[in-house]
Parts: sequence; structure tokens; C-alpha cells
Amino acid sequence: MAVLAPVIGLTGGIGSGKSAVAEVFAAHGAVIVDTDAIAHTMTGPSGAAMAAVATAFGSAVLTPAGALDRAAMRELAFADPAARARLEGILHPAIRAESARQVAQAQADPVVPYVILAVPLLVESGAYTRGNGRVDRVCVVDCAEETQILRVMGRSGLSREQVLGIMSAQATRAQRLVVADDVIDNNGTLAALQAQVAVLDLRYRRISGGNSPNAE
Ligand code: ADP
Repeated sequence: MAVLAPVIGLTGGIGSGKSAVAEVFAAHGAVIVDTDAIAHTMTGPSGAAMAAVATAFGSAVLTPAGALDRAAMRELAFADPAARARLEGILHPAIRAESARQVAQAQADPVVPYVILAVPLLVESGAYTRGNGRVDRVCVVDCAEETQILRVMGRSGLSREQVLGIMSAQATRAQRLVVADDVIDNNGTLAALQAQVAVLDLRYRRISGGNSPNAE
């Protein structure tokens, strides 16, 4: 029986550089399973969660194409905090199931050295810890808060206040670092990020024990 490729949970605050890091891991041959992308697909036109969302909230939260109308949903959740919990009650189990399916599919392929499971709210949700068997290691992308703010403003056109608002609803750097097995310091250049990912790539291939030419 082949050893299953390890699953590395990848997380970090908004703008810390998770997507940039995931891209470099993918270039090294890792399979990326991205819970944000899954959530997006699930709530897109005729997405897998949309029937349940429509039943729970009615057509007021649907776009004409049948996707989740995020602005309408935000408004509803603002007026009725229980609505947010109801939406999460639909989405979170579905995201966990779909990400587990994608991880298992990647692990069934013997040439996959390891899987990167990107979970922006890994620390906040508590559902993707080593303790419950979803991930073998946790890798945290970390940078100074001011760097996060400037990168998100540069990427999205959000104001400083809007970025601060999002960050205040997320775990702190310290809370993330406590659960980290590996930390990528993304205060520097993209070249510095790539160099750190290259070191971790070798480490993760070594845990995967024989699934790659680089394994010992
Ligand atoms: P996250 O996925 O954690 O929200 P991203 O990977 O999208 O963050 O990075 C946020 C922005 O900062 C992106 O525009 C990205 O290209 C840029 N970025 C990430 N890391 C660096 C870096 N080391 N140097 C310069 N820009 C970076």
C-alpha cells in the first residue's frame, strides 16, 4: 500500500501572499486545492450550493444568472446576523466535502508529491487542523500588517479602512504563528519567497516518502 501524499494546509492573512506562494508550489509540481476557489464555484451560476441557498433565502439573493448575489447576501446578513450562520451552515460542510474529494483525487495519483490545501480561514474555522486529520502540516505565510495593507490596496482598490476592517475580522499574526509548522516570511521580494518555497518543497517531498524523484 503506497503512502498517501501529505496534505499541507496553507494559510495567512489577507494580502500575506498565499496565492503567490501557492503558485510557486504548483510550479514545483504540487497539486493545489483551494477552498476559496471551491466556494466561488459552488456559489456561481448553477453552482452545487445554489439550490440549498435559494431554498434558504429565496430569489432575492440570486443574480439573474442564478449565482449568489454577494451584495444582496451581505445586506441580508447585516440586517439578520442569523442569516450569515445559515449561509455558513450550507457552505462550510459542502466546501469541506468538496476539498476532501479533490485531495483524495490528487492522492490517488502516484506522481503527486504532496497536496497544498489553501484555506484562508484555517485558523479561524478550526476545521482544518492536524488534530482532525485534514492536514499533516500547517504552513503560514506571514508579513507585516502594513505590508498586507499596501499589497491589498494595490491589488484591489480597497481603501485602507476597508482593508483594516477585513483584517480585524481575521485571526492575528500571533494566532496563526502559534499553529504553524512552517512559516514563509513574505516581507521581502518575490525571489526571497521563491527561495523559501524551494526549501519547503524539498521538505514536503521527503515526508511523501517515495512519491517523487527527490525523495530519499
Ligand atoms: P493573498 O492570497 O494572501 O491574499 P496574494 O498572494 O494575492 O495574497 O498577494 C497580495 C498582492 O501582493 C498580490 O498582488 C501579489 O502579487 C503581491 N505580492 C505577494 N507577495 C509579494 C512580494 N513578496 N513582493 C511583492 N508583491 C507581492
